[in-house]
Amino acid sequence: MSRMKFTVISPEVYTYGAMLVAGILKDNGYEVTLKRRLSAEKKSTVMLSLYSTQHLLSDEIKEFISKHRKNGGTVYIGGPVSAYPEMVLGELKPDAVIAGEGENSVPYVAKLGISSGTPGLAYTGPDGNIIRTKAVAPASMKRPLPLIPDDISSQSIRGASAYIETHRGCTGACTFCQVPRYFGREIRSRDLPDILEEVKEFKKHGATRISVSGGTGSLYQYRNGKINEDAFIELLRGMAKIMGKNNVSSPDIRVDCINERIAQAIREYTIGWVFFGLESGSDKILKVMGKGVSVSQASDAVYRCRDFGLKVAGSFIVGHPLETAEDFEKTKDFITEHCLDDVFVSIAEPIPKTPLAELVLNTPKEKSPLYMPHKGEYMALKLTESEARSFDLQMHADMFKPNLHVVTDEIFNAYLFGVRKDGKEIRAATELLFKYYGK
Ligand code: SF4
Repeated sequence: MSRMKFTVISPEVYTYGAMLVAGILKDNGYEVTLKRRLSAEKKSTVMLSLYSTQHLLSDEIKEFISKHRKNGGTVYIGGPVSAYPEMVLGELKPDAVIAGEGENSVPYVAKLGISSGTPGLAYTGPDGNIIRTKAVAPASMKRPLPLIPDDISSQSIRGASAYIETHRGCTGACTFCQVPRYFGREIRSRDLPDILEEVKEFKKHGATRISVSGGTGSLYQYRNGKINEDAFIELLRGMAKIMGKNNVSSPDIRVDCINERIAQAIREYTIGWVFFGLESGSDKILKVMGKGVSVSQASDAVYRCRDFGLKVAGSFIVGHPLETAEDFEKTKDFITEHCLDDVFVSIAEPIPKTPLAELVLNTPKEKSPLYMPHKGEYMALKLTESEARSFDLQMHADMFKPNLHVVTDEIFNAYLFGVRKDGKEIRAATELLFKYYGK
């Protein structure tokens, strides 16, 4: 009897989640192909792993699904977008959505297909109503090895071939973030030998640099309200032994989850960069964002890392509905004072089912930075307020990076193009939320 065939696709990049699902299917005896392009054998079963609301707006993805289904194939959609199945079913029209953490439901989906007895599914019933089957429990952190493609070295996500999962969940409650809502606020950690076996496997397949995934690196093995420094240090040491310290990064850490020992381990066992989600230089905005930390804690963390010789990068979010011009100036001041080695700026995006999404949807458009025309310094560029702040902050950060960064015409135009694109995409995603809000 021929084995059932699956194609697992994550558009553009091999995401860790797609590799994991492909590994589980392979371990269950199925024939699996993993792709980052939208193509599949006719009549095959496709599992599409989508990680951005933008995917719900993609004509290319819509066309692929429609054509594949017309040709007799089946399409399931999973990944972070499955947190809002109504939107996925309404916009992309797949056969079904694998809702929530897929590891537990994928083997049932493969065996039983779309049926009321398959856990963790959402699909459109004959009368057009959305049917949701029994929810699956949070996944165990014991699982088979992911399916790692042989061309994994060809991808570079902020310098890493892959971001591996060491634990799941976040103790934080940032109002713009889906992680605690999707994975919960309890930390579930993997066993170190399993992680290291996986790192070896990545290396065997050609991965050049491996990074620890998620915004909370040092929460690995967090227990009883305490950071487990020893476990995190062992993790980095083990990874460095396999990959070499120049091929390991542990970038994202909460500013209240770093101390001397952790900073020292990052210097000793990784490329020596730390990445903080700083978001704003205004305590008021940090509070409404639910960051749970203050500007002075963020400042201390930056200086502490510098003392240990680490490079520090930070990300900022501009255009929060409650961010005033004064709050924005405080963010600029933070950057002026701390001269960060790298800065990433994004416009506040209402991720579905987050408190920020509620706030954006309840803010009249004429008062929302996402829609309001900018009337200040960059008025001639015809930007919205969010776009203007993002543009301004990127230019400002360049002036205060430790190494000289000259803003050439080319860079100026690239920033301008980038903020216009971001603004347009986030407004399109917000319109989608307006369409499905309350459904
Ligand atoms: S600390 Fe990071 S992962 Fe946790 S809720 Fe905040 S943004 Fe999300």
